Amino acid sequence: MTKTKKDTRPRYPGTCPYCGHRFVGCLSILQQDFEMYDHGVSNCLHCKKLFRMIFDPNKKEFHTKTWEEFLENVQQKGREILKLKEGGF
Ligand SMILES: [Zn+2]
Repeated sequence: MTKTKKDTRPRYPGTCPYCGHRFVGCLSILQQDFEMYDHGVSNCLHCKKLFRMIFDPNKKEFHTKTWEEFLENVQQKGREILKLKEGGF
């Protein structure tokens, strides 16, 4: 006798930042219980491009960013850290 566990987690909508394809995703246990909403990287089922997903708990949907936007953000942060270091101790 086997019982298949049904995935009853709530699902939330999101949109691919490249092609506009709508998808639904659910939160992992980490995200639900520890409110870690950065969903990391996912790829679009439609155009297969990689993008970043961050859950927006207020809107109850996934906020998506293109890979380029994400890298730009990281570089920006890197520059800020370098500036702080150059400022001296
Ligand atoms: Zn897409």
